[in-house]
Amino acid sequence: MPSFRAPRGTYDILPGDQPYWSFAMRTAAEVASRFGYGRIDTPVFEATDLFERGVGDATDIVQKEMYTFEDHGGDSMTLRPEGTAGVCRAYIEHGLHNQPQPVRMYYQANFFRYERPQAGRFRQFSQFGVEAIGDGSPYVDVEVMELGWSFVRALNISGASLRVNSIGDSECRPAYLDALRDYYRDHIDDICDDDRRRLERAPLRLLDCKKSQCQSIGDTAPKSTDYLCNACKAHWVLVLALLEGLKETYPDLDYYVDHRLVRGLDYYTRTVFEIEPENAAGQSTLLGGGRYDGLIEEIGGQPTPGIGFASGLDRLVAHVKSQEDFESPEIGPDVVIVHLGEAAGRRGASLAAGLRAAGVAVLVAPAGRSMRAQMRYSNALNARYALIIGDRELESGEGSLRPLQEDSGQAGVSLDVEAIARAVRGA
Ligand SMILES: [Zn+2]
Ligand SMILES: [Zn+2]
Repeated sequence: MPSFRAPRGTYDILPGDQPYWSFAMRTAAEVASRFGYGRIDTPVFEATDLFERGVGDATDIVQKEMYTFEDHGGDSMTLRPEGTAGVCRAYIEHGLHNQPQPVRMYYQANFFRYERPQAGRFRQFSQFGVEAIGDGSPYVDVEVMELGWSFVRALNISGASLRVNSIGDSECRPAYLDALRDYYRDHIDDICDDDRRRLERAPLRLLDCKKSQCQSIGDTAPKSTDYLCNACKAHWVLVLALLEGLKETYPDLDYYVDHRLVRGLDYYTRTVFEIEPENAAGQSTLLGGGRYDGLIEEIGGQPTPGIGFASGLDRLVAHVKSQEDFESPEIGPDVVIVHLGEAAGRRGASLAAGLRAAGVAVLVAPAGRSMRAQMRYSNALNARYALIIGDRELESGEGSLRPLQEDSGQAGVSLDVEAIARAVRGA
């Protein structure tokens, strides 16, 4: 008789481990809901072309790691190696651009990559991920990072840090890549063989090479943030300002700019980020993502911005297992913050962070829209209240809280987290 084992790089989740998994998955769903993200499920396999175009021909994933097969009809299919391409395909296929933008979605699913066996890497692995598609504003970047941070916090993982970078876009990246190639050509004798091979094709990847001989060379390489065009620069400056604002709610939010953070996939533009646990050693990232403004167009849709992250549940569950029990957050959309002007937007973002931290479900309406459009948006999402903030409200310190589910009129509310939370809960 043969003696069977689970295939290399896969694992069983036995009944004794299920409570940890369901806790992590329930927490993910609850945090995602609090930020207004709805669940999406896509097929386990897709046309191979989708990943070749959507993940990128030059990536290790497409070149070496995909489980690809020809089905009985002669079509080439691939087990999904990541979640974003499938979600973007669904966004296009189902005309989700007709819904309020951005469309906020999350998934919990299994993915498949033929990884070289090493600690913490699996060939079938489980991820929680979110995607916000259809709004290119920096507010959405920071919302997604706040969501990731809240998730890690809700799992009671302390001491984590957030690395962030901007890698520009098709406008400004070519000049940066040229500078990077020039720089590494000057150090060609000192870098590893892998790097020499990929220098011309994928120079960004040299920055996150983990080999010790490449570290000091990477540290002094040209920085992408020094090459940003005006639009990317304005975007980046606001991302950093909003991140700083998050510290009001999360004083321990340890974020720092890391010019060597580039992420492994071709599709990223502008903001990229990762959350690492304390004492991170190389492969231990808890969560990572970034903006992918060219991806939807690349796979056949209209030009549409998007941003998201994915987190390896395998690793997070390992962290959860090493900890005591803790409380899970509530679900429910309570307030949409309607804001006019950039100052009001910033105040709205920090109030939203404070309210979410206090357990209230809050969304900030898309930036740069009229009040009318933002109210339409609030109604479309079935919010219980709209909190309206403009210059006058900022000056008086009192916003307008308008009930959307009943006919009673709007009331003034002091623009601080406690007063708003009380008003929302008391009604
Ligand atoms: Zn190297
Ligand atoms: Zn740019």
